[in-house]
Amino acid sequence: MTDITPASGDELVFLPLGGSNEIGMNFNLYGYGPAHDRKWIVVDLGVTFGDQTTPGVEIILPDPTFIEEHSKDILGIVLTHAHEDHIGAVAWLWPRLKAPLYATPFTAFLLREKLREAGLQDEAPITEVPLSGTFQLGPFELTLLTLTHSIPEPNGVAIRTPLGVVLHTGDWKIDPDPLTGEATDEGAIRRLGDEGILAMVCDSTNVFVDGEAGSEADVRTVLGDLIRGLKGGVAAACFASNVARMDTIIRAAEGAGRRVCLVGRSMIRMSQAARSVGLLEGVGPFLNDVEAKRFPKNQVLYLCTGSQGEPRAALARMADGSHPHVKLGQGDACIFSSRIIPGNEVPIRNMQNKLADIGVRLYTERDHPGIHVSGHPCRGELERMYQWARPQIAIPTHGERRHLLEHAAFARDLQISQAVAPRNGDMVRLAPGLAQIVDEVPAGRLYVDAGVVTPENGDALRERRHVAVNGMLSVSLVLDGRDRIAAGPQLRAIGLPGDEDYPIDEALEDLAQDAKDAFYALPSSDRESDGSVEAALSRALKKAAFRIWKRRPVVEATVLRV
Ligand SMILES: [Zn+2]
Ligand SMILES: [Zn+2]
Repeated sequence: MTDITPASGDELVFLPLGGSNEIGMNFNLYGYGPAHDRKWIVVDLGVTFGDQTTPGVEIILPDPTFIEEHSKDILGIVLTHAHEDHIGAVAWLWPRLKAPLYATPFTAFLLREKLREAGLQDEAPITEVPLSGTFQLGPFELTLLTLTHSIPEPNGVAIRTPLGVVLHTGDWKIDPDPLTGEATDEGAIRRLGDEGILAMVCDSTNVFVDGEAGSEADVRTVLGDLIRGLKGGVAAACFASNVARMDTIIRAAEGAGRRVCLVGRSMIRMSQAARSVGLLEGVGPFLNDVEAKRFPKNQVLYLCTGSQGEPRAALARMADGSHPHVKLGQGDACIFSSRIIPGNEVPIRNMQNKLADIGVRLYTERDHPGIHVSGHPCRGELERMYQWARPQIAIPTHGERRHLLEHAAFARDLQISQAVAPRNGDMVRLAPGLAQIVDEVPAGRLYVDAGVVTPENGDALRERRHVAVNGMLSVSLVLDGRDRIAAGPQLRAIGLPGDEDYPIDEALEDLAQDAKDAFYALPSSDRESDGSVEAALSRALKKAAFRIWKRRPVVEATVLRV
């Protein structure tokens, strides 16, 4: 416990602005002080990814508006680990928060790279904290706890305040043999439990899965056996950030007499980050995709990005036959040593169909159990964590609504006396008094659209979605100096169908007639105004389009004067 004694009116609050009711864009705040004068720390600042419902938008950020207004009171931003859902938004949002960053060396390496790409390397200070390190930010004393996950250096954070201790777990599992890094620091968690934990804010990803996630060491055995038995070319896809898995696949390949070729930018970047902290030792050197062409296929393993079917990643291009240097075909194998992230089912299935079609044999978690294990705690591990930590309050996070509610119920079953499952924007007072939601602040999403950060309900994406479903009509009409039609109306349809019975040209002629009729129906005073004429044309064409197609296309009407 820190030496500072709480003043009357001081409160300790937890406020998720991302990651509660979704898996992704984790953005957690802890506030200390009286309601009108709180100091804040941020734990994690991640992104989530777009899907078919957000055409053209790949990156989604948590909306920081609430805390931006208190940015001078942010004492620090602590990054638990280097997954995109925990650090991906730093480079985008740091200019709006401008607080010092804290991370362990591996995370700091990747963060520096992101800041460099954004041109922020000289502005945004990163303090590298050693594993298990302690540092003080105003009334918060933070101690990192080494956990295990699916990336090097996953940290939980013990947050000591004058009103109690919070254990913020970050992402974790209990892996007795994680292969890279240390095993879960059970001793540190138990000691913290002895000290007395007020609240545990905890990963809910696998709360519906019984048992344990399984150890990385078991994957090593399974993949080693599998790769030894393969004869042709082999591609293996995993998350680049899962350095233990990379290490496993590389060792399995080298053990089977294959050189490893890293394919994909993030695979190469992660291997550099790993080597910078002493990981991936005693393997390699690796081939690049040009060098690999000099070797017979059965002497190479391509370790590649794109396990989620990302269209521009290495594996999708190999499946398309459009990769400039790596060709897969009959007799080759592709191992998916990763899970399907919900939402990516369709692109992954499409890519796997393409690979199968060119003769590649597929090995996935579903038909070959044991080639992947999750990095998140299943119920057995959650139970052990609650036994070690014994918090008074359980706050489930890192999950969709159903995960958080199930986790809260599970915690109550484990005799945790209070459990609160907040939504993004719910401010939970942890102390003094019983835990409860005391305020609701604005929370939402921002879309990175063509490199521009836009509001969730911004016009550009809404229009694009509307056009994608309904198509578009444009009409232009040229008027002379006495408000008479000099030319047109000229019509163009985009994304609207015609057929033999009713060709699109005929539809456009009919629409032109509707436009003319609408113009002539206007009183002469309205014909003087471009805006009135354009509005009348739009109205008429929307009505006509609905008559023809039962659609409501976007209508773009333009009046020109000569
Ligand atoms: Zn993670
Ligand atoms: Zn995560």
